[in-house]
Amino acid sequence: METDVVVIGGGATGAGVAWDLSLRGIDVTLVEMGDMGTGTSGRYHGLLHTGARYVASDLTSARECFQEHTIIRRVAPHVLDDTGGLFVLSPSDEEEFVDGWLDGCEAANIPVQELDASEALDREPLLHPGTRRAFEVPDAACDSFSLCGALRRSAESEGAKFLVYHKVEGFHGDNGGITGVRATDLRSGETQDIRCSMVVNAAGPWAAEVGNAAGVEFGMVLSRGAMLAFNGRWTSAIVSRLRPPGDGDIFVPLGYSGVAGTTSVPTDDPGDTRIEDWERERIISETETFLPGIRRGKILRSWAGVRPLYDPDTQSDSAEGTHVDNRKATRTFDVLDHEEEDGVGGILTIVGGKLTTFRLMAEKTSDAACEKLGVDKTCLTAEAEILAT
Ligand SMILES: Cc1cc2nc3c(=O)[nH]c(=O)nc-3n(C[C@H](O)[C@H](O)[C@H](O)COP(=O)(O)OP(=O)(O)OC[C@H]3O[C@@H](n4cnc5c(N)ncnc54)[C@H](O)[C@@H]3O)c2cc1C
Repeated sequence: METDVVVIGGGATGAGVAWDLSLRGIDVTLVEMGDMGTGTSGRYHGLLHTGARYVASDLTSARECFQEHTIIRRVAPHVLDDTGGLFVLSPSDEEEFVDGWLDGCEAANIPVQELDASEALDREPLLHPGTRRAFEVPDAACDSFSLCGALRRSAESEGAKFLVYHKVEGFHGDNGGITGVRATDLRSGETQDIRCSMVVNAAGPWAAEVGNAAGVEFGMVLSRGAMLAFNGRWTSAIVSRLRPPGDGDIFVPLGYSGVAGTTSVPTDDPGDTRIEDWERERIISETETFLPGIRRGKILRSWAGVRPLYDPDTQSDSAEGTHVDNRKATRTFDVLDHEEEDGVGGILTIVGGKLTTFRLMAEKTSDAACEKLGVDKTCLTAEAEILAT
């Protein structure tokens, strides 16, 4: 089989790259070892961020989120549940945080509207009755499986091919770098070689493993997080606590459930989806500070996912080994050009970011791929509508 670009990974990022490149007239084959969205994209919290959560800690990421949030509302409204968001100051939160947070929202151009605490309680009767302040932002919930499916359908309509349940287990190359991949059909065991001019490694938390197989090395900051889905939605808007990002401070009404989360636990294993008892207790006790009845709620489901973060600045080597402060790892992203960085041509890696910023990540990766392929076509995904599934 032969194609221009092989994309490895059928999460939001890889599917976004396939959509972007196929709109530019490039022949793409996406290879995904599970089904679409079965990596981190299908195990996330469900929030299409405005960026308000990050304004105090990571203004660049906050700005990216707001820009992308606005675009996704326009090009894929069918994957969103326009719940709106409320940032609330609970009795145990620090009032001093609020002014800096408001300044950050202004710097990132995120529209914020303060509500009377009584109005917030009228709208959200299950909030803590001692809620001191509440601010409305245009957050929305996003169905990531619909998003990945819609991107696939859109890319296929432009000629892209998708091989699901196929795992890339080897690479072909010559002196110029990578020239193809070997993919195994995990259902039949059959292998096939796909010749290509370029590989995009969009394997999320598996990106370093995939890179290794291609002969390039880089470190990632993997961080596991847990979510608990409760019976019923509990709130109509997404509720976030007004404090620096921490455990259990966001509640997302998603489908028929309300989802509380999350945690941030360093891990070396991209497939680490354990939830430890202390994580359940931490999420419930932190959520109780703004939704006090939650402990009596019934947990319908729980899941965990691994954040594919990359930030060499938060890693430091010491006698104790590599220390990673994973709450400080930036939520923005990097396109790694392995020709420049490792002397291996024909492969790019996209790491970091958020589901909210998948389109921008795909745009930057596709720009880099086009430059290497000598294709002079600009990105169309900020305007082109994504087909509904
Ligand atoms: C707990 C948690 C909560 C989060 N909440 C939010 C949120 O509310 N909002 C938000 O915007 N972001 C959130 N994120 C971040 C967001 O989920 C991720 O940044 C995003 O989903 C990553 O998408 P991806 O496509 O890069 O990776 P993935 O979705 O993991 O996709 C990579 C794919 O590559 C495939 N793959 C790997 N190796 C191979 C191989 N060898 N061959 C073939 N396929 C392979 C995997 O099966 C996988 O499907 C959260 C993350 C976590 C962990």
